[in-house]
Amino acid sequence: MTTGFFYHKAFLKHDMGAGHPECPERLTAVMEFLQRRKAFNEENLCLASPRAATLPELERVHPKDYIDFIRTASERESRFDADTRASKGSYNAAILAAGAGLKAWESISNGDIDNAFSLARPPGHHANENQVRGFCLFNNVAVVAKHITATVSDSRVLILDIDAHHGNGTQEILYTDPSTLYIGLHQDPRTLYPGYSGYINELGEGSGKGYNINIPLPPGVSDSSFLQALNEIFPPLAKQFQPTIILVSAGYDAHFRDYLTNLLLSTTGFFQISHLINEVAQRTCDGNVIMFLEGGYDLKALSESIYNTLIPMTGEGKIIQEKPPKEDPRIPKYLGKLLTETKEMLKPQWEIP
Ligand SMILES: [Zn+2]
Repeated sequence: MTTGFFYHKAFLKHDMGAGHPECPERLTAVMEFLQRRKAFNEENLCLASPRAATLPELERVHPKDYIDFIRTASERESRFDADTRASKGSYNAAILAAGAGLKAWESISNGDIDNAFSLARPPGHHANENQVRGFCLFNNVAVVAKHITATVSDSRVLILDIDAHHGNGTQEILYTDPSTLYIGLHQDPRTLYPGYSGYINELGEGSGKGYNINIPLPPGVSDSSFLQALNEIFPPLAKQFQPTIILVSAGYDAHFRDYLTNLLLSTTGFFQISHLINEVAQRTCDGNVIMFLEGGYDLKALSESIYNTLIPMTGEGKIIQEKPPKEDPRIPKYLGKLLTETKEMLKPQWEIP
């Protein structure tokens, strides 16, 4: 298997100042870790350069005046919003972050690579059409999803969001679109940003009804419960939806050492999640997967978890084992009820055992 690993030094030029969790060091830590492990070679994991997304490609999701706002705020080094500051390199990093996924898709569809990981920033899943939110400027995953469904006839894109925060931007952009199926597993938004969305009754609207699925996990969920939730919902839906490709909003802030959230996954858990995703992709869409980096702020957890994610994609590497913390004994019962309720709501449209 050949995995394209998309990275560019320009991603480091988007800099929100000292002490900001979404910092350039996130990427340099991962690159140094992978290089130390000698992970890169031509056959299994090859370094690839992104291209910039074009204006028409961005405009499938974001209006022109919003794109102009990102560019001018970047030139002026002003603020995008209260917690997202602009720097001179922000716009260039953002169009390359969106373009990395587009280039990954092109390389997969012409057979150069089997699957891809985009180590890009700024992240994307909180940005909607016209709002910078949660450190996200352009919605990288939505730009790629819209590009594929617009340019490949009869195509369908499954988006799996495993970041600890709900992908509210992605949900809002694709809420009425039946050619994209959004499945998000995240910490219960009553206990974490964004708060207002990510609940099980948000199922999509119009012809997109039934194509938006949220599984809000209680704080304290660890590997076994996360995998149970993923395993009960994602494979049967993927089987029925028959996607052209699976795009993963790969956030790593659900790791137990991450200081922004209260989920308790381990690096071993991230291996198991990736293993399941790639197995389902093999069965449903010829192994077509692109992973997009979203959150993940503990640099050691981020580096090791990405390394473990790549193993099922490349078929190479030795798993970094880590024991997750113990779950609260009340969680399995709560989760069982939540999954039963979710399946009840999905029943009219989806066959879930
Ligand atoms: Zn997050």
